[in-house]
Amino acid sequence: MDRIWAPWRKSYIRPKKARERGCLFCRLRDAKNDRQNYVIKRTAYNFAVLNRYPYNNGHVMIVPKRHVAMLDELCDVEKLDWIELLEDMIAGLKRSLRPHGFNAGMNIGQVSGAGVPGHLHLHVVPRWSGDVNFMPIIGETKIISESLDSVYQALTRKPRCGVRKSVERNKR
Ligand SMILES: [Zn+2]
Repeated sequence: MDRIWAPWRKSYIRPKKARERGCLFCRLRDAKNDRQNYVIKRTAYNFAVLNRYPYNNGHVMIVPKRHVAMLDELCDVEKLDWIELLEDMIAGLKRSLRPHGFNAGMNIGQVSGAGVPGHLHLHVVPRWSGDVNFMPIIGETKIISESLDSVYQALTRKPRCGVRKSVERNKR
């Protein structure tokens, strides 16, 4: 479990061009092309984005919009919004990928191995029984980028509304 959020981040955060310098999450927050950046959803105080170098299919990061490094720097309203977005993403991942479970966690501070230590982010990684062995294999292959697109589409598709069903049920 120690390695679940490990070094693939290096290539993710290393700026390729001069204009890409600065905090990755602040860049994603300010960017307009959500589709291209795999930003799944934006709420009032947070956003959810697919990890381009996922440890498993559907690896999502939930990120506060403000550039803060520690939990106590977030206001209550931001924290609540953060957890609600986490709940939302877990529901979407359950619906679209049908995982058997999830790992959700944070590395806080450089020493913990955080890839972007200055900007809090919560990792959510869907898990399937028996996935441990295949995760390293799919590491940096083309399959990942293709699956990123399909995972993105699945997560941004509007869920079917369950209201009608429950209204019908209540009529009986
Ligand atoms: Zn930032």
